[in-house]
Amino acid sequence: MNHAPLIWHNGRLKPWAEATVHVSAHALHYGSSVFEGERVYSTPRGPCYFRLEDHTRRLFESARMYEIDIGYGEDEINAACLELIRANGLDSAYVRPIVFRGAGGLGVLPAEGSPVDVSILALNWGAYHGEAREHGADVCVSSWNRPAPNTFPSWAKAGGNYLSSQLIAFEARRGGYAEGIALGTNGLLSEGAGENLFVLRKGRLLTPPTSAGILSGITRDSVIALAGDLGIAVEERDLPREALYAADEIFMTGTAAEITPVRSVDRKPVADGKPGPITRALQDTFFGLFEGRTPDRRGWLTPVHDE
Ligand code: PMP
Repeated sequence: MNHAPLIWHNGRLKPWAEATVHVSAHALHYGSSVFEGERVYSTPRGPCYFRLEDHTRRLFESARMYEIDIGYGEDEINAACLELIRANGLDSAYVRPIVFRGAGGLGVLPAEGSPVDVSILALNWGAYHGEAREHGADVCVSSWNRPAPNTFPSWAKAGGNYLSSQLIAFEARRGGYAEGIALGTNGLLSEGAGENLFVLRKGRLLTPPTSAGILSGITRDSVIALAGDLGIAVEERDLPREALYAADEIFMTGTAAEITPVRSVDRKPVADGKPGPITRALQDTFFGLFEGRTPDRRGWLTPVHDE
């Protein structure tokens, strides 16, 4: 793994090898972790976080759903994320803050005051789906559904939720696909194993609503705003599986995946099998934020160094 040498762990910077956890940690047994995936981009203003405060806010929301007391304030976590990049001397990174129930007993119900650990790791991750960012990804519809509403909160970015994502991703890989798209238990489209989903059909840009058992993605939200800037309205609405086969364009969004075009679904090409013009325009606008071509009108970039 191509990682930064220092980890922020419970308030201190430590060498990667020293940031270890006891095997009795509650999160290891019961999935009780909440985390974020964030990116630092190299920009003309130096390294900048993308939507750092929004990621931190979601981390705290996820923790609240699982009654995990982070023990630091949002400002402290934001500051720690910035400190980590400075201490490691990085220009770009994928950053993974994680909050988890540590070693404090094996009861499913954690004892009052049982320990919570907070770590922030930085990795050197390029394009998550590799060349697919340019040429488009081949995806399948998974035989695994996402959890039904009122089972696990899909808005929480919690470790346990990623068991569902692993099943979807394993099946996709076995079939030779880059990613799997899951349906909800109602048979309607939800999201990819680690991405939100957009479909363009007859000039309308559509995406499943946040009530569709999906993570309320920050890249999804960014794309909706940037599309608006380009004069493209996004409709958040229920979509049947066949919307994938009737689409003119499809793309997936996520911090790791950024904006990744989809070129086929279940081996059926999307339109002519090449990323379409709306997908390209949104990619151009999105990456333009980091290259200085798209103005940062919403204050989404947080410089790592004082300007
Ligand atoms: N859905 C799932 C299941 C994810 O893991 C992710 C990645 N965090 C997303 C959607 C996209 O969310 P975001 O744009 O906030 O990274």
